[in-house]
Amino acid sequence: MKNSKMKCPICKGKSKEKRLKQFVLLKCTSCGLEWQKKMPTDSELDSIYSEYSQSKFDYDRYDFFNAVYKKYISKLKKASVLDLGCGLGHFLDILKGKGWDIEGIDMSKSSVKIAKKKLGNKIHLKSIESFKTSKKYDLILMIDIIEHVRNPDHIMQKVKDLLKKDGLLIINTPNTSAILAKISGKTWFQYKREHLYYFNSSNIKQFLSKNGFKTIKCDPTIRNISFYLVRNYLIYYPKKVIPKIADFFYKIFGEKLSKKIKIKIPASEIIVIAKRIENIKKKMVWE
Ligand SMILES: [Zn+2]
Repeated sequence: MKNSKMKCPICKGKSKEKRLKQFVLLKCTSCGLEWQKKMPTDSELDSIYSEYSQSKFDYDRYDFFNAVYKKYISKLKKASVLDLGCGLGHFLDILKGKGWDIEGIDMSKSSVKIAKKKLGNKIHLKSIESFKTSKKYDLILMIDIIEHVRNPDHIMQKVKDLLKKDGLLIINTPNTSAILAKISGKTWFQYKREHLYYFNSSNIKQFLSKNGFKTIKCDPTIRNISFYLVRNYLIYYPKKVIPKIADFFYKIFGEKLSKKIKIKIPASEIIVIAKRIENIKKKMVWE
């Protein structure tokens, strides 16, 4: 019972425990934010991140970034962009090719090394907290980042400082109200030790507004996922008929083909376009 006193960092609502196999979450009873009750230590996170590799991702990062570019960025005036957690620099590579003035930071030594080879000295081995610059950016990208940070409010203040007054922010993060999250319940693949906070499509707007941002657009993220991976999620579905259907097709296709067949689905995340609140009168291309 004592945990019911743990207040939600977004809305100050009460929370209750949600026990997963690998750790315990607290879930806000009013806005639905979920966060880890006992946060992992720095050394625990370091060891997880040292094993991080982009090859872990089943979907094609370039495909995803190209789709995000086309849908949300292509109509904007080309200007400066900062990618917080740029990884191997795939997204920046695309933006550079389209004429954007790019810059990126990442905490992974190996990723920064690779990104630097491709994109030069505009890539820095830095955490968001330790990144210092006098420059202000027109666009900031936070793709799969906000769920990893210890203090999301703190980070948003930093992001606000880095953005120009009419600058834009693009956030992509796991979404607890997504279809796969609902299907998989406590076995959702996004429940990972390194994911500290779990938003949904409504509390993320609340979180952004609290930090001085207006949400312009919030869409389910479309991913190009292999049938193999989809089947791996569906086998956890509590109503047995769904896993049976998935398995039936898996047996027909076999492992090799299952990995090749890609399905575009609003899988597990949300993508949010937000703007600093100071200047919300200007009409946006998405409005
Ligand atoms: Zn809440």
